[in-house]
Amino acid sequence: MKAPPKSSEAVRQAAQVEREAVSFFRRANRLAADPRVKFIFSRAAEEHENALKVLEPLAKGRGKPRVPSFFPVDEYATIECSVCGHSEETDEIPETCPSCGAAGYAFDKDVPRDLAWSLVARTARNVAAFTRKMGAGVKDPEAKNALTMAAGIHRDLLAEANEERARLEGAAP
Ligand SMILES: [Zn+2]
Repeated sequence: MKAPPKSSEAVRQAAQVEREAVSFFRRANRLAADPRVKFIFSRAAEEHENALKVLEPLAKGRGKPRVPSFFPVDEYATIECSVCGHSEETDEIPETCPSCGAAGYAFDKDVPRDLAWSLVARTARNVAAFTRKMGAGVKDPEAKNALTMAAGIHRDLLAEANEERARLEGAAP
C-alpha cells in the first residue's frame, strides 16, 4: 500500500463527479430535440467520460462517495408532453404519450444552443475547480497526475464551450 487513503478518496470523489456528469449529459442528450443541441450534450458526455477513464483505474474503494452536486438534475428529471402537459419521470422518451397519444416528439426538450453551451461551460468550470481542489491535497504522484489530467480535459471542454458561445453570439440570428 503505497498510496495514502487520502489520495484514493480524492480520486474516488473526482471519479464520482465524472460519473454523474456522464449520466447527466447522456440524459440531456436523449431528451434534447435539436440534433445540434444533442451534439453539444454528447460532446460534454464524451469529455467527462474521458476524464472518468483517467480517474477510474485509481478510484479504488467500496461504496459511493458523497460529492457536491454540480448538475441541474431536476431540470432534466422529468419529461413533459407539449400537447397535453402529461409529465413523468423516465429515462426514455415513449413512442406515444400515454395520456393523449401524441407522437413521442411531443416530449422533446427545447434547449437553445447558447444555453446548452453555457451549461456545459458552467459545469466544466465547476468540475475542474473541484478536481483541482481534490488534487491539491494528494501526495501520491499517480493520483495527482490523474487529477491534473482530468482537470486539463475540463479546461479544454470549457475553452471549446466558450468558443462556441462566442461564435453563436457573433452569428446573425
Ligand atoms: Zn400528451
